Amino acid sequence: MSGLQAAVSAKRAGLSFCVIEARDRLGGKVWSIPLASGRGTADLGAAWINDELQPSTTAYVRKFKMDTVRQPIDKTPAIVQVSEDERLEFPFSVIPDFPPVKKRNLEMIRDHIKAESQKREAPKLKDDQVSLDTYVRKLDATEKTCKMVNLYVRAMHSLESTEELAAHLIHYWRRNHGLLAARADDHTGGNYLRLQGGNQDIARGIARLVGEQHIYSSHPVQSIHDEHAKVTICTSNDQTFVAKKVIVSVPTALFRDIKFTPPLPAALPERCSNTKLGHYNKAIVCHNKPWWRDIGYNWVLFSYDSPICIVRDTRIPEKNCYSLTCFVNSSVGAEWAKQDPHARRRAVLEQLAKGYNIDRSSELWRSIEFFDQIWKHEPYSQGALSPIPAIGHYVKYQSVHGKPVGNIHFVRTEYSDHWKGYMEGALTSGAQGAEEVVRALKAPESRL
Ligand SMILES: Cc1cc2nc3c(=O)[nH]c(=O)nc-3n(C[C@H](O)[C@H](O)[C@H](O)COP(=O)(O)OP(=O)(O)OC[C@H]3O[C@@H](n4cnc5c(N)ncnc54)[C@H](O)[C@@H]3O)c2cc1C
Repeated sequence: MSGLQAAVSAKRAGLSFCVIEARDRLGGKVWSIPLASGRGTADLGAAWINDELQPSTTAYVRKFKMDTVRQPIDKTPAIVQVSEDERLEFPFSVIPDFPPVKKRNLEMIRDHIKAESQKREAPKLKDDQVSLDTYVRKLDATEKTCKMVNLYVRAMHSLESTEELAAHLIHYWRRNHGLLAARADDHTGGNYLRLQGGNQDIARGIARLVGEQHIYSSHPVQSIHDEHAKVTICTSNDQTFVAKKVIVSVPTALFRDIKFTPPLPAALPERCSNTKLGHYNKAIVCHNKPWWRDIGYNWVLFSYDSPICIVRDTRIPEKNCYSLTCFVNSSVGAEWAKQDPHARRRAVLEQLAKGYNIDRSSELWRSIEFFDQIWKHEPYSQGALSPIPAIGHYVKYQSVHGKPVGNIHFVRTEYSDHWKGYMEGALTSGAQGAEEVVRALKAPESRL
């Protein structure tokens, strides 16, 4: 998305340009697959948007006249699977009914993070030295609270809280309207609306604006040679492109697969290679009817230790499509991903059966379609959601990360100041990258 946005912005600025894409499809981590039943699509990557808080995404949704659907919310019970055999039901959008001491501790940590995540401050150096797990333990989080914090990290970034850098996640929330917006399913949060035709329609729409004649799909970039007066880009299918400027939108963790000459300044590969991309996986189960509603649940199910960390309802009633999207993330997701497709499907259905407390007669077992998507197995993503910097690598490298080097400019969702990690962030960064290039081309030295 960031690359397509950079291209459309460059076109508007009157530049000549082209898009070089490794995959045979456009959209990167935005990928919508049509259901065989013809009842809409399954979003294997990005699914949710917000038309009040995400202006760039919303502008495209309106421009391309896309139909949206609201995330269903009501007060029927949600479920937490505390352990393999223990489950608790609780009213949607409140803290589950844990024993009072544990509940107070959880509220104390939540309120602290909520307050921190709303500050308009730069990340602190001291928070760059600790994982989120250590950070909350220093605030006296109990084991139970640490498990909940771990669940947050699993659901958001598909890592464990021992691997997530405190400075990075706090800053991430600050860029994205705070902790609560990252979780909310109503108009105040990132999980508010979905697109009836699937999110990839946004990428397809932008590609039409770019002009498909300017897009080279199935052209993996292998090397970028910056000779000051020009840049030469070579792809693994032996194509060569020459330009004045290049905007790189590949995931930073994949920079190691591209040969940059002269080499990028040492700090950049140091920062980019010291990142972790989590196991962010989706399993989508489609049914003829919303059986979970029929038995009295709203859909929210989350689990501390089982493969699925969170389930979300992705129904599109307008298309008679009723699906549950299960996030099978982090270390448990990594184990799940090693199994064959049948075993993966079985693990998902069995956890849903336990979670919703249903037997073999349930509609659950009569799913009409099942998709699973393991982003780690995609060579041009190698994981998701965002690359998480190693301890001590976020604040330290902020002045170089995403900043231009010679004629090479960088765009990506993780460089964005607004909705970092989301499609909105990708669009924001793409537009900024193109502006940066336009400014650089106008600079006197560039016209020599
Ligand atoms: C499962 C999942 C759920 C998500 N849910 C949401 C959501 O609900 N809402 C939301 O807003 N966001 C969501 N996101 C995040 C969103 O998808 C991303 O933030 C956004 O799409 C990132 O765009 P990007 O351009 O920064 O990166 P990418 O999408 O990673 O694009 C990078 C592009 O570079 C290409 N590339 C890689 N290597 C090469 C190479 N060597 N040569 C040429 N091209 C190369 C890739 O093929 C790709 O097209 C989700 C992501 C995932 C994976």
